[in-house]
Amino acid sequence: MTKSLVVAGGGIAGMAAGLTAVRAGWQAHVFERAPEFSEVGAGVQLGPNVTRLLQAWGLGEALMHVAAFPSGLHARSMTTGEVLATLPLKEAALMYGAPYVTIHRADLHGLLLQAASREGVQVHSDALVQRIRQVPHAVTVEVTQHGQLQQHDAAMAVAADGVWSPLRQQLLGDGLPMFTGHIAYRALVAQADLPTHLRSQDVSVWMGAHAHVVSYPVRGGEYLNVVCLAEGRLLDDDANHLQALQTWNAKKSEAQALAELHHAVRDACTPLTDLMAACSDWRLWPLCGRPVMQGAHQHVQGRVALVGDAAHPMLPYLAQGAGMALEDAAALGMQLTGAASTDIPQRLQAFAQARWQRNARVQARAVRNGQIFHATGALRVGRDMGLRLMGARLMDVPWLYGYRA
Ligand SMILES: Cc1cc2nc3c(=O)[nH]c(=O)nc-3n(C[C@H](O)[C@H](O)[C@H](O)COP(=O)(O)OP(=O)(O)OC[C@H]3O[C@@H](n4cnc5c(N)ncnc54)[C@H](O)[C@@H]3O)c2cc1C
Repeated sequence: MTKSLVVAGGGIAGMAAGLTAVRAGWQAHVFERAPEFSEVGAGVQLGPNVTRLLQAWGLGEALMHVAAFPSGLHARSMTTGEVLATLPLKEAALMYGAPYVTIHRADLHGLLLQAASREGVQVHSDALVQRIRQVPHAVTVEVTQHGQLQQHDAAMAVAADGVWSPLRQQLLGDGLPMFTGHIAYRALVAQADLPTHLRSQDVSVWMGAHAHVVSYPVRGGEYLNVVCLAEGRLLDDDANHLQALQTWNAKKSEAQALAELHHAVRDACTPLTDLMAACSDWRLWPLCGRPVMQGAHQHVQGRVALVGDAAHPMLPYLAQGAGMALEDAAALGMQLTGAASTDIPQRLQAFAQARWQRNARVQARAVRNGQIFHATGALRVGRDMGLRLMGARLMDVPWLYGYRA
């Protein structure tokens, strides 16, 4: 069997996995069910652990053109607007040897897609992976491409098909993800459309009771990405309804009244209220997830690796979901380097062992962050006091940002 692999899903995780595979000397086919890669999405923050990888893949220069490079991350009170603590991001970049950036998801995806195409990844759109079958010493992947069922044989496969991963359900049989009880409301606003005092090139996390708002620049700083993350209920949290909403483009108006968003930030200070009022076209994203990873078996089954949200969906409260997808891809590429087709089962086991505990730790920390961000009562008082006294030391996460595989 030739050194070839099939990737199911052409999001951040899948595109990065295809890229690192070809860089390791493998042939890679990425199958994406969507008919085209569209410009939809919102912002993502990428810590030094992630930008270090993008630089190593030769994408540092391209990143400079599309990302924003905030100089500080401010933890603020939602009600008073007080800056409780600031993590100086430029200093963090010097310390960790790579920048902290904020970027539109479509720009990040575009960088990966261009690099993948340039380096020889075969990218197929309108290609729905139906099934991955493990046969002796290979995999057989069934794909419906442009309406026609085709079969592809390869030495291994990667399931990068996102939080609702149908392939995970086939491989692990551990059911559907669950609604976490948290909803993200997202908006993008041109900085030029904002009054001067609301424009910002920094990251702000405005913490309130059972909700917080994150704002940061994207598209080279021309837009401000504003996300409100609130605990709440959906009128219908049936899996089919949730999946229908799980698109980066689900419009708030299609889902629920704007009233819930306003309720989540009812105690907000004037600058935040003004910022949110300046945003229109809110889009809703019910956050769905799974329990923290339990073991290496959730990353690899035989000749199939699960990466990104398919393996470890996480709350966005540590801003590392895409980051962990990119780290997965880097780790996979390392294992594929110098590997023969016959080595795949052992190499994938090594990949799984290298990744699952880190991913589990990040998932768990994201949950904990949510509790801290949304705290009330004594926990909130302690949090605010700790931030005022210890500042950046409480906000820095050296085990996360300093990670080198
Ligand atoms: C509100 C919010 C804020 C976030 N903020 C951050 C942040 O600041 N930093 C960060 O690092 N992360 C952040 N994340 C998380 C990050 O966006 C995700 O972790 C990341 O996009 C996951 O990428 P993925 O490729 O695994 O999955 P996806 O992006 O879901 O991609 C999966 C792809 O697979 C395709 N697909 C599905 N099934 C099939 C099939 N059968 N055949 C072929 N194709 C298929 C889908 O169409 C899709 O294109 C945030 C998430 C949210 C919701």
